[in-house]
Amino acid sequence: MLSKTLQKALNEQIDKEFYSAHLYLSMASYAETLNLPGFAHWMKLQQREEFGHAMQIYKYVNERGGRVELGAIPQPPSDFKTPTALFEEVLNHERYITASINKLYEKAVKEKDYATQVMLHGFIEEQVEEEASASEILETLHIGGEKGPALLMLDRQLARRGQQN
Ligand code: MG
Repeated sequence: MLSKTLQKALNEQIDKEFYSAHLYLSMASYAETLNLPGFAHWMKLQQREEFGHAMQIYKYVNERGGRVELGAIPQPPSDFKTPTALFEEVLNHERYITASINKLYEKAVKEKDYATQVMLHGFIEEQVEEEASASEILETLHIGGEKGPALLMLDRQLARRGQQN
């Protein structure tokens, strides 16, 4: 059985993952208004991944005999100012999620809940990738600027997400 403390923390993480999904869909919508279909595609894939993360924890809580209790999903921002500011927000948000996962892990260590620690390993690895890909895209925006050919090239690159490897 999960402890009440861990169950609560896992439930809060489910809400954060759903918020992430909501935030990325809002970001996709913003990208659509800028006529950046590649950016929008990238954000929509991200939205699905975050939804998947929430459902992974949902499944885990139930498997451990816990109870999933959903909270409210806050309203995400809808205006992100510029493509660069958009990816700055992605990076900030992922850093916030990393910190949250780390806190969750610390709780599992403190309680000697090994199963939760193992479940979280995938999330810890995932966060390394999330921060790295956001940083990489941000770097491209800083180098190329956000106007003209550089932005169009980046949009085409982001449109290929999920089609490579
Ligand atoms: Mg996530």
